[in-house]
Amino acid sequence: MTQFGDFDLIVVGSGLFGITVAERCAHELGLRVLVVERRNHVGGNAWSSVDEQTGIEVHDYGSHIFHCTSQDVWTYVNRFTAFSNYRHRVVTRHQNRFYTMPMNLGTLSSLYGRFLSPDDARALVSEEVRASGISDPKNLEEKAISLVGRRMYDAFIRGYTAKQWQTDPKDLPADIITRLPVRYTFDDAYFSDPYQGIPLVGYGALIRRMLDAPGIEAVTSVDYFDIRSRIPAETPVVYTGPIDRYFHNCAGELGWRTLDFEREVLATADYQGTSVVNYPDSDVQFTRIHEFRHLHPERKYGTDQTVIFKEYSRFSQRTDEPYYPIDTRNDKSAYQAYRDLADKEPNVIFGGRLGTYRYLDMHQAIGAALKVFDNILQPHFVDGRPLKHGRHAHT
Ligand code: FAD
Ligand code: UDP
Repeated sequence: MTQFGDFDLIVVGSGLFGITVAERCAHELGLRVLVVERRNHVGGNAWSSVDEQTGIEVHDYGSHIFHCTSQDVWTYVNRFTAFSNYRHRVVTRHQNRFYTMPMNLGTLSSLYGRFLSPDDARALVSEEVRASGISDPKNLEEKAISLVGRRMYDAFIRGYTAKQWQTDPKDLPADIITRLPVRYTFDDAYFSDPYQGIPLVGYGALIRRMLDAPGIEAVTSVDYFDIRSRIPAETPVVYTGPIDRYFHNCAGELGWRTLDFEREVLATADYQGTSVVNYPDSDVQFTRIHEFRHLHPERKYGTDQTVIFKEYSRFSQRTDEPYYPIDTRNDKSAYQAYRDLADKEPNVIFGGRLGTYRYLDMHQAIGAALKVFDNILQPHFVDGRPLKHGRHAHT
C-alpha cells in the first residue's frame, strides 16, 4: 500500500518527460520519487507492447521514431538501450498512386508526370507561389502553398490536414507544416537528424528500464486528483497532465485533437511494404496505416500474419486522451492565462506536452526534462534554491 507521505517528489504522468525527471532525481540525487499514472500502463504516448496474437511489437499510440540533433539527449537515452539504424520512409497514396513523403523531387516529378531537375522544380513551385500572391505566409495553408505550390498542397496537404485537424488550414498555425521537410533532391528520408533509430529492446522495455532506479515507485490506473489530498502540501510536484484541468478549466478548455486506432490482423507476411502509408484523399476516412513489423526489420517475426493500425483523427472530448494541441488564437490566450496561474502555483513545476500545451517530440520532452532537472530540481534539492524561477519553470 503506497504511503503518499513518504516521497521527496511526486511526478504526475509517466510519459517521457515525467520518467526522465523521475530517473534523474532518483539516480543522481537518491530521492524517493512517486510516479502517478492515470492510464493502465506507464510510458504515455511512447508506450509499445508485444501484440499477443502476432508477437509483433506495436506502438500503441502510432509509430514512434526517435530522432534528435542533441548529443546530450542521445547519450542519455543510449544509457538504457542501443538503437537500431532504422530510417523512416513514408509513402503517401493519392488517387491510388504512390508518392514519396516528405515531398521531394520524386514526389514533384511523379505528380507533374515528367522528370524535374532541382532547378525545374524550384522554378515551377516559385511560379505557383507567385501566382497565389502569398508573400508573407501567416497560417498553415499559406505556409504550405509558399513551400510547395498550390498543386502539391491540393494533392498531399489540404485533404490530409482537413482530416487530421478538422479546422480550416487558414486557422492553423504555420509551424505545423514546417515539421514536414521539403526537399529539392531525391532524398526520401523522413528525418535528417544525425541521431535516429528505434530502441532495439522496444519503447516499452526502454521505459521500464528508465523507471528501474532504486527510489522510484510507479503506480498506474491512479488519477493524481483522486489522491492529491493524501500528499503533504509541501511535497514538490512535477505535473505533466493537462494544464487546463489542473486549474479546473477556469480559463476555458484548451482545444486538442485525439486519435482512434483501429487494429487489424491480416493473413499476410507484409501488407504495405513499409511502416507508414499516408492517405491524403478526403474520400478515405483514416489518415494513415501503420504496419509495425517494418519498425523492427532486425527481428525474426512470423510470416503468416501482420498487424496494422488505421489511424483516425477527431476533436478530443473530455474523456479522450488529448494528443495534438490545436492552438487557435483562443487557445493561445487561454493558455497564457493558465501560465500566469502556473507561475503563482507554489511547489509545482508544469512540464511535458500536456502541461505546457505544446507539440513535443520524444527528444524534446526528454531534453526539456533534463533542463528542468539541471536548472530547477537539482539546485532545489541540493542547494535549497526555491523551486520557481518565473517562466523557466515551464521549459
Ligand atoms: P505523454 O506521453 O502524453 O505523458 C503524459 C502522461 O500523463 C500520460 O501518460 C497521461 O495519462 C498522464 N496523466 C495526465 N493526467 C494525469 C493525471 N491527472 N494523473 C495521472 N496521470 C496523468 N515523437 C517522436 O519523437 N517521434 C515520433 O515518431 C512520434 N510520433 C508520434 C505519433 C503520435 C500519434 C503521437 C500522438 C505522438 C508522437 N510523438 C512522436 C510524440 C511523443 O509521443 C511525445 O513527445 C511524448 O509522448 C511526450 O511525452 P510527455 O511526457 O510530454 O507526454
Ligand atoms: N501533413 C500533410 N500530409 C501528409 C503528412 C502531414 O498535410 O501526408 C501535414 C498535416 O497538417 C500534419 C503536419 O503536416 O499535421 C505535420 O506532419 P507530421 O508527420 O509531423 O504529423 P504528426 O506528427 O502531426 O502526425
